[in-house]
Amino acid sequence: MAKTLFDKIWDAHVVKDIDSTRQVIYIDRHFIHEVTSPQAFSGLRNRGIELFRTKQTTATADHNVPTLNQHLPIKDPLSRSQVDTLTENCKEFGVNLYHLGHELQGIVHVIGPELGITRPGMTIVCGDSHTSTHGAFGNIAFGIGTSQVEQVFASQCLILSKPKTMRITVDGILQDGVSAKDVILYIISKLTAAGGTGYFVEYAGSTISSMSMEERMTVCNMSIEMGARGGMIAPDETTFEYIKDRKFAPKDKEYKQALQQWKTLYSDHGASFDQEYTFDAADIGPMLTYGTNPGMGIQVNEQIPNISEYLDPKQLTKSLDYMGLQQGQLLEGQEIQHVFIGSCTNARIEDLRKVANFVQGKQKADHVQAWIVPGSKQVEKQAKEEGLDTVFADAGFQLREPGCSACLGMNEDKVPAGDYCISTSNRNFEGRQGPGARTILASPLSAAAAAIEGKIVDVRKYMN
Ligand code: SF4
Repeated sequence: MAKTLFDKIWDAHVVKDIDSTRQVIYIDRHFIHEVTSPQAFSGLRNRGIELFRTKQTTATADHNVPTLNQHLPIKDPLSRSQVDTLTENCKEFGVNLYHLGHELQGIVHVIGPELGITRPGMTIVCGDSHTSTHGAFGNIAFGIGTSQVEQVFASQCLILSKPKTMRITVDGILQDGVSAKDVILYIISKLTAAGGTGYFVEYAGSTISSMSMEERMTVCNMSIEMGARGGMIAPDETTFEYIKDRKFAPKDKEYKQALQQWKTLYSDHGASFDQEYTFDAADIGPMLTYGTNPGMGIQVNEQIPNISEYLDPKQLTKSLDYMGLQQGQLLEGQEIQHVFIGSCTNARIEDLRKVANFVQGKQKADHVQAWIVPGSKQVEKQAKEEGLDTVFADAGFQLREPGCSACLGMNEDKVPAGDYCISTSNRNFEGRQGPGARTILASPLSAAAAAIEGKIVDVRKYMN
C-alpha cells in the first residue's frame, strides 16, 4: 500500500498500541534547553530514577543567554538561575551540554542540524514549539510540554495519537528578492494561524525541492505557526550533501548504510493525504505581518484588510490597536525603529551571507537599531572568518553573540514598548519581543532593506 513519508517514519517507531487511537512511539533524539527542562529533571529526582538514554539527549543554553559579553556572569538573576540550573542538572544526570561559552553552543534548532545530530527518518522532540525546524531533513520532529520532557527522560518514549496528514505543494520559480521566509508567511496567511491544526504537514513541489537546507529549515520552522504539529520535507541529494562530514554525522561505511535507508524516505506515488493545498511560486511577493499572529500577513504592496471584510473583525480591531496600524493601510513606507535578524527561523550562515551581500556598501538609517544575532557559535565564527562582521560594522549593523535574543522577551534583548521592529523571527504575538513591542515579521532581505531606509520597502526594487 502506498504510504506517506510521515506514515513510514511513524510506523517504524511504534513500540506498541495502547488503544484504538494511542500508541507508544520511540524517540530517537531529545533536545533540551534551560526553560522547559528544570521541572522534568526535578520529576526524575523526586521519583528517584535515572535519565534513561543520556546519549540520545542533547542540551544547550539559548533562551536566557545574553548576546553581549557572554564571558561575563549573566546580569539578570532569573536568567542566570535558569542557565546555572541547566548546567547542574546536565552534570547530575550525565547529559551532554553545550553551555554558554562552549564553541558549539547555540539555539537548539540551529545546532542540531549543523552538528549532524538531526538526520532523516528520526523522531525528534524538544520542549519548544519550533522543533518542527528539524523536519526539513525528512523526520518527525515536534515540540512537547514539560510533562512529556519528563516522559522522554524516563523512557525515551511518548504516548501519542497519530495526527492527520497534509501536503502543501509549491511549484515554480520565486521572484528575485522573494525567499523561503516569504513562502511560509504566504502559506500561513492563506491557511490562517489555525489552518494546520491537527495535521502534520509535508511540503513538496519544485519550489521546495530547489531550496537549500537552510531555506527548508525556515519553512519547516514556521509550520507550528499555522497550528500544525510539525512540518517535513522528503530528504534528497541536497539533504545528504548537507549532512555529510558534519561532526556527528555517520562516517564512511555507516554513512553509506544510512544513505541507503534515507533514500527510501519519500511519500509513495499515490499515497493519500487527509488534506492537500497547492500554491504557485509566481504569486508570492515579499511578505510582512501587520497583526499579532503570523497568519495576519500581506505582501508588501497589499493593503491591511478592512475590518468589516475580515473573518474575525474583533481580532483585527484588537490587533491593529496594539500595532498602531490602520485598516486599508499600506505597510510600505511605515517607519521602523528596530531590525532584528536572528532566531531559529533565520540566523544561519546563509541568512547572514544574504544580508551581508545586500548591505555591503550601504548605511543603515540613523534612527534604526539594527541587530544581527547568529544562531550559534559556529555561525558566528564562520561569519567572522568570511569577513561578514566587517561588512555589518561598516553598514552600522551590530553583530552580537548567539542566542534566542529578541525572538522572545525572556532575556536582556527587548524591543521598547510602542516601537516597531521588523524581525526575521517567527512570532509577532503581543509582547513577544518585550511588553508593548510591535513586531512585523519578514525575511532577512526585507529586514535589511528596512534597516537601510528606516522604513518598510519593497526589496524587489533593489534587484536587477
Ligand atoms: S529563537 Fe525563538 S522560536 Fe527559536 S528556540 Fe529560541 S525562542 Fe524559540
